[in-house]
Amino acid sequence: MKLSLIIPCYNEQEVLPYFYKEVTDTLKFLSGDYELIFVNDGSKDKTVSILRKLASEDTHVVYLSFSRNFGKEAAMYAGFSNSQGEYVAVMDADLQDPPSLLPQMLEILESGEYDSVATRRTSREGEPVIRSWFARRFYQLINSISDTDVVDGARDFRLMKREMVDAIVSMSEYNRFSKGIFGWVGFRTYWLPYKNVERMAGETKWSFWKLLKYAIDGIINFSQAPLSIASWFGMFMTACSFMILVFIIVRRMVFGDPVAGWASTICVIIFIGGIQLFCMGIMGQYIAKTYMESKRRPHFIIAETNKENAEKIK
Ligand code: UDP
Ligand code: MG
Repeated sequence: MKLSLIIPCYNEQEVLPYFYKEVTDTLKFLSGDYELIFVNDGSKDKTVSILRKLASEDTHVVYLSFSRNFGKEAAMYAGFSNSQGEYVAVMDADLQDPPSLLPQMLEILESGEYDSVATRRTSREGEPVIRSWFARRFYQLINSISDTDVVDGARDFRLMKREMVDAIVSMSEYNRFSKGIFGWVGFRTYWLPYKNVERMAGETKWSFWKLLKYAIDGIINFSQAPLSIASWFGMFMTACSFMILVFIIVRRMVFGDPVAGWASTICVIIFIGGIQLFCMGIMGQYIAKTYMESKRRPHFIIAETNKENAEKIK
């Protein structure tokens, strides 16, 4: 098997037929065998019946259908662990990742210089302005506080060699943030820029809040900086309170004991209480992640597939 394409699909009934046609037209000219691994991430529409039909007509089609919606990260993981190709790529079903780039990407890998070809959009056209603004700030932030490079505008669309895919599968963490994982495993990566393409049909599965949560998860998964912020806050407050203590003792000795300062006391209590809760919240985030990791729950559960030896639970 030369090439495996992994396509996570969540409610993609409108675009799937177009996607299938365009990819098949591109791969017809490929020398060597390929497989299209569609991962149905618990769609509520007719996605799975379309996949069944495609699989019955074309032996290149493999589908893995989850028992519920596990998220795109789990879908990609399922695809990686069930792929056989020497080269493996992840693609969105909505044709935002142009299949026409595949031949060029394959050529770059076959030259032997690189282990992976990643794509980066050079524009965010067609995206709400606020969303782009927050996305930019997120990339600035995560790159300044994490050792792992997370490239702005990087898509999950990338072609990788088997070695890199095996490395990714070996990272079996429960809280997955692929943009970080791809960077973390290393390997020589070629960045291929292209202009943003808008979704062909159907609608985006990412609301603003879902994206914000994903961004926070990404930061917590790939950086310990928030924890140090909490301890710096703690040290700063200790220093402040020590100075205030000295001030109060000196004032007591010089001016006696005037019964005043109720307002300032309350202010200090509320302020410190707030910071304590904030820092505990940060720690709580890490503890929650640790808790989920320690349960070692499977990343996905496959309810239906046409692949005989599929790893159904992992
Ligand atoms: N997707 C998925 N599970 C989810 C959400 C999305 O498998 O819970 C898939 C979706 O079907 C698509 C890809 O992930 O193939 C990217 O989703 P989308 O196009 O909605 O995101 P956007 O391009 O707007 O960031
Ligand atoms: Mg999309």
